[in-house]
Amino acid sequence: MTEVTASSPSGRAPGIGRFARLESAAGWIVLALIGVCLPLLGDSYIGVIAQRACIYWILCAGLNLIVGYAGQIAIGWVALLTVGAYTTAVLTAGKVMAPWNPFLALIASGVLGAIFGVIVGLPALRLRTFYFAMTTLGFATIVTQVALAWTDVTGGGVGTPGPEFPWPFNPEWGFYYLCLLLAALVTWMSYNIATSRFGRALVAIRDAEVAAEASGIAKPRLLMTVFVFAGAVAGVAGGLFSSLQSYITPDAFTFEISVLFFIGVLIGGRGSIMGPLLGTIILTILPEFAAPLVAWSTFVYAALLLVIVLVIPGGIADLLDYKNRRPLPQHREIVARPELLAHVLEKRPPATIELSDLALHFGGVRAIDGIDLKVNTGEVHGLIGPNGSGKTTTLNVISGYYAPTSGRVRLNGAELPSGAPHLRAAYRIARTFQTPRLIGSASVLDNVMIGGTIDGQGGFTESMLRLPRHHRDEKRLREAAMLALRTVGLESLASVRADRLQHSELRFMEIARALMLRPSFLMLDEPAAGLSAEEIRRLGALVVAISRAGVGVMLVEHHADMIFEVSDRVTVLNLGKVLAAGTPDEIRSHREVVNAYLGG
Ligand code: ADP
Ligand code: MG
Repeated sequence: MTEVTASSPSGRAPGIGRFARLESAAGWIVLALIGVCLPLLGDSYIGVIAQRACIYWILCAGLNLIVGYAGQIAIGWVALLTVGAYTTAVLTAGKVMAPWNPFLALIASGVLGAIFGVIVGLPALRLRTFYFAMTTLGFATIVTQVALAWTDVTGGGVGTPGPEFPWPFNPEWGFYYLCLLLAALVTWMSYNIATSRFGRALVAIRDAEVAAEASGIAKPRLLMTVFVFAGAVAGVAGGLFSSLQSYITPDAFTFEISVLFFIGVLIGGRGSIMGPLLGTIILTILPEFAAPLVAWSTFVYAALLLVIVLVIPGGIADLLDYKNRRPLPQHREIVARPELLAHVLEKRPPATIELSDLALHFGGVRAIDGIDLKVNTGEVHGLIGPNGSGKTTTLNVISGYYAPTSGRVRLNGAELPSGAPHLRAAYRIARTFQTPRLIGSASVLDNVMIGGTIDGQGGFTESMLRLPRHHRDEKRLREAAMLALRTVGLESLASVRADRLQHSELRFMEIARALMLRPSFLMLDEPAAGLSAEEIRRLGALVVAISRAGVGVMLVEHHADMIFEVSDRVTVLNLGKVLAAGTPDEIRSHREVVNAYLGG
């Protein structure tokens, strides 16, 4: 059994003590020291490689949010490096107009990079996986071709010179420190984004899109914001790259570089900053130190990728994550504490969700076929019926995943918009899923904090720069999530990776996430499936307590005993129609229900 130590309703998350902080900072401190002291070696060859590693990482830090966090396969990201490089080179060369200051040109590269980031990113809203990957590749080809053909500006195949940055950034190590400084800045910003509600939302979109939507996360807006950031830093990286190369031609931007960026992030590990940083450094250094390998670089990258995928699918980040290899207690017990619900939930005015003559047909399948039903706050409404009778579909229509074929879903008389599940969270309608939707690689605490995403007040930029509202949001979200975890009895597992949990624990974790919305309505889709008899009893008590705290609970379950024990009203579905509705006692003795469903 796990030890339960905390008793106060609010509390600190585990693992943020001084020692834990130092422990997680240690790697960064070592890297920074190496970075700062590198010029002591005095070797200019190493200097060039180090500059290149910094520049590549500036780009990869942004790409990491797209590939590693949001899970979008962007393999043609070299296009943005090209755009940035030509922008800086052309503006500073003075061939087209009066020469710009290199720093101003660098800013222009960032702006143009941001614009092109959105253009490359837009297809991600419609296309998935390889289809999106192909569009990014296509874009990279277009950019190179334009650079070749637009001879007046880019110099075509002959190329154009890159700028020299003014003193103190022009001697070799001065330029290195400029690159290092920008790399550190971008690392800090991407780390801030990754550890904010926006970073968690990105990972949620990647691993559990429906749960993300149910928590009110709007994918298009979030993705576009991240594409702006990643595009801007890639543009800046391009500007620095043009200075590093001192002369740029279209064939400097090869497919190999693009592959390097992508694989650097992949072997680093998804959802980590340190891992992809190390991955990028390794891939930059590797061909340099093994000169005969230069001609084989694509082969080496591919082989490395294969080995990593086969041997350590989680990448370098997984190797570094020693904390999650510590064994968990064997016989864990979930003891919910319903008495804490008063602190978790908010008193809201009474409300009613009403379904009237609701129908949803999938082609010829009448999944639901004219359902009338009312759920009031403060009561548990049980929904039972044989497999395929339309229970999950009913919840999906209420949560906005499907637009009904006919009929209405109303909240306090006003119709709810359909086909937009991410809008439901604002109505304080929360739900769990028949198959738990977890973000396996994130901690239990992070999984739960996702549920409170819409209550954050700070914007993306505020989080990126760690401004005060970001801190306030994080503190509040973390405390609320710990409280929700304590309420369902999972607080001792808060810092554990969610994919290490048992099935029953995942069910309670989903409830904690739903509670983060401080919902008016909570829809639970078979929460007792896979639970032991004792756990079902505790779940039942928790469900009743949630409803008594003023939440309207809609409970879909196969365990008839539990339904009859905890429900105030029960609706029985069969073939998408209401077979019976009434109090548990009425349903228990309803002839047709007994014959068709309860058996006996
Ligand atoms: P329950 O949750 O009661 O077991 P569901 O609501 O999941 O049942 O399903 C009701 C019926 O609708 C089933 O016949 C199922 O096959 C069908 N159905 C559900 N979702 C879809 C879908 N997306 N496309 C086609 N048919 C579906
Ligand atoms: Mg179902």
